[in-house]
Amino acid sequence: MKKRVLFFVTAVCLFLTTILGSTKMVSAATTGELKTGDEIHGFKVKQTAYDSSTKSDEILFEHVKTGAKLLVIKNSDINRGFSIKFNTPADNDKGINHIIEHSVLGGSKKYPSSNIIFDVMNTTYVSYANAFTYQNMTMYPICSSNEKQLFKSADIYLDAVFNPLLLSDSRIFEREGFRNELKDAGSKLIYNGIVYSEMQGGLSSIEASAMINAKKAIFPDSNQGNISGGSPSDIPALTYQEVINTYKKNYHPSNSFMVLYGDVDYKAFLKMVNENYLSSYSKKEITIDRGTQKPFNKLSKKSYTVPAAAGTDTKNKSVIDLVFAINDMKELGMDNYIALSTAISLLNVENSSFKQALMESKIGESYSISLDATTYQPSLHFIANNANPAKSNDFYHLVMKELKKVVKKGLDTELIKSSLRSIEFQEALGNNQSSAVNKMMTASLFDNLIGNSIVDVNSYYRKLVNKLDERVLEKVIEKYIVKNKSAALTVTTPEAGLLEKNQEAAAKTLAEKKASMTKKEVSALVNRTAAFQEWNSKETPAAVLKSLRAVSLKDIEVELKDREIKETTVDGAHVLTANADVDKISSVSLGFDLSHLTPDELLYLRFYSDMIGNGMATTNRTESQVLNEIALKTNTISTAVSAIMDNKNGTSAHPVFIVDYYSFEDEYKDTFELVSDILLNSKITDIAGYGTRTIANVKADFKYQFAEPLNLALLRSTAYTSPLYRYSNYLNGLDYYKFILQLEKEIINNPAEVAKKITEIRTKAFNKNNLNILFAGDESAQSAFKSAITGLTGKLPDAQYGKAVYSLPKPAKREALAINSTVQYVLVNASLSESNVPQSGKGNVIMNMLNNLLLTPEIRLKGGAYGASAAIMDNNYIAYTYRDNNYVNSMKTIGATDEFLKALTSYMTEETLESYKLSTYAAESPSTNELTDAYMSLLYHMQGISLQDRINRLTEIKESGIADIDTYAGYMEKLNANQNYVIVASPSDIEGNKDMFDSIISLQ
Ligand SMILES: [Zn+2]
Repeated sequence: MKKRVLFFVTAVCLFLTTILGSTKMVSAATTGELKTGDEIHGFKVKQTAYDSSTKSDEILFEHVKTGAKLLVIKNSDINRGFSIKFNTPADNDKGINHIIEHSVLGGSKKYPSSNIIFDVMNTTYVSYANAFTYQNMTMYPICSSNEKQLFKSADIYLDAVFNPLLLSDSRIFEREGFRNELKDAGSKLIYNGIVYSEMQGGLSSIEASAMINAKKAIFPDSNQGNISGGSPSDIPALTYQEVINTYKKNYHPSNSFMVLYGDVDYKAFLKMVNENYLSSYSKKEITIDRGTQKPFNKLSKKSYTVPAAAGTDTKNKSVIDLVFAINDMKELGMDNYIALSTAISLLNVENSSFKQALMESKIGESYSISLDATTYQPSLHFIANNANPAKSNDFYHLVMKELKKVVKKGLDTELIKSSLRSIEFQEALGNNQSSAVNKMMTASLFDNLIGNSIVDVNSYYRKLVNKLDERVLEKVIEKYIVKNKSAALTVTTPEAGLLEKNQEAAAKTLAEKKASMTKKEVSALVNRTAAFQEWNSKETPAAVLKSLRAVSLKDIEVELKDREIKETTVDGAHVLTANADVDKISSVSLGFDLSHLTPDELLYLRFYSDMIGNGMATTNRTESQVLNEIALKTNTISTAVSAIMDNKNGTSAHPVFIVDYYSFEDEYKDTFELVSDILLNSKITDIAGYGTRTIANVKADFKYQFAEPLNLALLRSTAYTSPLYRYSNYLNGLDYYKFILQLEKEIINNPAEVAKKITEIRTKAFNKNNLNILFAGDESAQSAFKSAITGLTGKLPDAQYGKAVYSLPKPAKREALAINSTVQYVLVNASLSESNVPQSGKGNVIMNMLNNLLLTPEIRLKGGAYGASAAIMDNNYIAYTYRDNNYVNSMKTIGATDEFLKALTSYMTEETLESYKLSTYAAESPSTNELTDAYMSLLYHMQGISLQDRINRLTEIKESGIADIDTYAGYMEKLNANQNYVIVASPSDIEGNKDMFDSIISLQ
């Protein structure tokens, strides 16, 4: 089991990031100093607990005067965090809560910058800042590895949510949410707004639409079926007044829940929160509508269409979702919730008899089962992807028949017992960079759902494992699924040509709207548009910027640890070790150099890695045994075919097969035995089964990427100049997708031939002479590890191969990718070395300034795109926009970075520059845990990046001066002249500017 499903997160956020894991809490105990009932700074202690997985004391406070709740999670983690959340169910599909989420971070009374969130991120010492709108709550998390800055940041967030400028300035709503724009009397009327763009992109995958359709079908009379992020067709009906009314209803301390996390002086914090904010409020009664849906008496059936471009192949491309409404979380209880989510994860295992039966039905191509517990009543989804819409009834009957079989025959629960070991792994690994955000998010969700933020999930899990013999899992499946009448069967089908039809209809509506305006109205809107953009162009005053900072660069000491990297050879394998001050646990990475394989062989091997990831039997173990032992011995094993740089300049790279896992000190021999069995003996001969299901999953993954194409565009644009990314693009991008489509046919026609080929490539790939082993762990563990290595190398062939000579495909210089969406994406790339630009930390400071002063204001705030950014990745300069609405304009802005920097030199002050250096420094020196840091130092070493190089990079950031801005203006001129790009947009938006492209590729 890869990961336990706790929350299936369907939240929209302020910018794109990836986070989340699961939380595991063990045995509640009391904390030393404070006990229940004690009062301090206006807060009363309600509950205390000890969480052994994060080694934290937890204290839940309630503010006496207002009822505001504040959970302190005190531990030794220096990546500190603060969050505040409000309970905010959505009343309709207009995205009100989501637009409030964006808008309150558009400045506050005490911090009157209209771009506060970006100013905080780009000019202060924070490690994380974002905001999220869930179905029933809105949450604002922020982290810093400096305590002073965390408290300051918490003050900024608190002032933002309690005293936002939004209340007195409707322009913030228009910018973040929605507005009408008219440049001059002769131009076209357009709809614009950040959330408006964001949601067009957010709902462009068929999976996202199908999920929304299923929710609407299962919650027809409840607010739980509303689209909390907002539907692009409903957002234009939203008024400023509605936003203000909803804000006033929900944003009150009595409806709030805060979390303070890490190594913090919480008493000082309570004092600040009480004095600066809460003490001026009194208690308010806020009723939250939990939207309980009345039970159905029969299966509800619904069909929907989603837009696709003309010519899209829509045959068997539907999503069938059989969805059940479960009891309200409060009524369901944690025992049943954990049992249900565990049962679902077992049904989801690829070789479960349930999943096998779905697969054999051929109704769809791939299947997933998920429990979404972000609604008060969780919804449970059985999903057939790339399905035949005519077979929806068959799908319903099949799922029900198979579930009844499961109830009768019982589930294979061995995996649940093995996965208990993950608690031990988690405790040994300790906190990591995302612990703060994950802990705050989980506590907030539990508070929102069941009114209890201190939930000991692990104890429920342990209890469940002890009761497996009482058939608890089968019982919850019977009660909450088989006998549950509140079910809906929804079919979502793409309609070719509907995308163009909708685009034309939208253009017509706007044209008619403009035609109906009087001359006076037209000129008023032109004036308003101009005034709006002028307001939007104002830079944050230096005094406001200064007020956001609690520390300056000279206060920050970052010590990069010397990990004493040692190199040796054991039985032909090259071994690199790094010291990490940890107990028992270690991190192991096996890297097989694949320079001797041809490009075609690399794709086959990548597919082998994907099959392993989906689960395979070996000649010595059944598939279930493999999964169980992985959970017991390594937590998880990840395999990948990727590439690493040959040197720190990134001028060449080579492909590698990577195997990563964790191992306990006394188990190295056992884990090598398991890992070598998986690598060398996985049953390729059963390719008809393993290959087919892997292909279905890979295709489903690409389908999703075609709707969220930023990563594909990044791969293609950087592949134009970079040897490293040319490998990444080849192995993960469209070349691999094309290979999969071809392989699908080969497996049908001649599976034995394919199996033979992959077996030969496997023998060629895994060899003791091309093996690099990276080991991070305690010094005393290193010798035990080295003596176990022959357990692996003894099984590997001892062959010599010459390097294969080839050149990988290179995308066009100016490329367009056509997708089924109304939003657009831009990716501009240029090579630093080819433009004679040095790699330096100074470049990162410049990128930070460009982001905050040019790209975000012009492209997001004025242009209405969801996001825009520039960055330096190794030897590449990249600039990109996502969920954009005017790529031609965005390209102009990105092309003007040199001129912008030239002009900037004249008014940039030392003090403001210092703030950009500070935030760059925070980004380049993330606090991470001991084991990860040691492992990272090995990866750097492999690529020729020494400790001194990393220190130099930080020094370059510190030493950046105003003169460098001028130097970089010159560099940017060269980078802009050398740029290549990838634009992603709808076919008609590409067609309108087709001279911009050397190549147009349709993604479908
Ligand atoms: Zn958003």
